Amino acid sequence: MHYTKPIPVPNHGTQSFWDGCRQHQLKFQQCVECVTVNWPPSYLCSHCLSVRFDWIVSKGVGKIYTYVTYYRAFHSSFKDDLPYISAVVELDEGPRILTNIVNCSLSEVECEMRVIVEWDDITSEYSLPKFRPLLSG
Ligand SMILES: [Zn+2]
Repeated sequence: MHYTKPIPVPNHGTQSFWDGCRQHQLKFQQCVECVTVNWPPSYLCSHCLSVRFDWIVSKGVGKIYTYVTYYRAFHSSFKDDLPYISAVVELDEGPRILTNIVNCSLSEVECEMRVIVEWDDITSEYSLPKFRPLLSG
């Protein structure tokens, strides 16, 4: 099936992130000089301007920090998904990632809900990290 939505456009600072996604690894940068977690990925540290990073693989678990339900498509290619949820998920390691909540009814979603990454393989080169409820027990 042909993917009709916008596709990520990696750059010098984000290529490693998207490479990780393709392997179903959610990665974020940690500065080698000052250990600041750098998110979103960039070519230099937002705290000390170092260009040296380690890439940390997240466990892919966190909680919904905030979210919004879209009932209107602001890009025509998302029309068939309505209504859908865009959320900011705070990973257990700290970074907050903009994503979608999937495999969950709209009425179940709430702030602080525990979620886990689920991969949406949109093309052979790109996988998007989305999140679904983390069922306890
Ligand atoms: Zn730094």
